[in-house]
Amino acid sequence: MGYDTADGPVLRHSRHLLLNEFDETSLQTLSESKALIIGAGGLGCPAALYLASAGIGSLRWVDDDCVELSNLPRQILFNDSDIGKKKVIAGKVALENLFPETKIEALPRRVDKKNIKQLFNGCDIILDCTDNFSSRQLNNKTSINMNIPLVIGGAVGWSGQLMVVDPRLKNEACYACVFEDSQSFKDDSCGAFGVFSPAVGTIGVLQAGETIKTLLSIKKTSGKLVLFDVLSNEFSTIRLKKNYSCKTCGKEID
Ligand SMILES: [Zn+2]
Repeated sequence: MGYDTADGPVLRHSRHLLLNEFDETSLQTLSESKALIIGAGGLGCPAALYLASAGIGSLRWVDDDCVELSNLPRQILFNDSDIGKKKVIAGKVALENLFPETKIEALPRRVDKKNIKQLFNGCDIILDCTDNFSSRQLNNKTSINMNIPLVIGGAVGWSGQLMVVDPRLKNEACYACVFEDSQSFKDDSCGAFGVFSPAVGTIGVLQAGETIKTLLSIKKTSGKLVLFDVLSNEFSTIRLKKNYSCKTCGKEID
């Protein structure tokens, strides 16, 4: 590792290493891990920032949007000179300046049914940092089919939500167990309803935390939906039950 002192990553990550759940093997595991981040907005920016700062080895980052002026208050990797540029390209430049050890594959394209398997392929974990219901269903379905954990975040207005789907645990709920794939669902996008920047930022950072914990098998946190109401400063947790007739993940019992 070229940019550290003789103590290298051990000194850099010493505050993580003081935690009982971390050791040098954890750093090694993180440095060999690859996460796919879908979305480079208010969730994807802080998630990418905290994953790179924690020493993740590789990020594959997908989003076809360009930076706009109204993005800047919460999409914290961008500045005025990035307006008009593809978000993942500008994000890669910003992250590489801060954390050159993390390899970033920036793919300015839209995720769809045709390319999603190829995008998931080779990744250890997926972060859903999108802002719409149909993308989440597609990401959830592909995560189940390819047996790759998925960390879903969402935020609108003053509230956020967080859910970890771990298809390696066969009796736990997936996203479609909770929100049926067939049901029509109106997205409350932040473009239409507004969003409090620290709400979306908090959820993005929490997604990075869940990703690190899942990659390192520190603690299982799947099977629940966490809701964060920033206005009243309250977190609440809903325990989720697997729906054994779920069209996406149903069947397994034993
Ligand atoms: Zn399910």
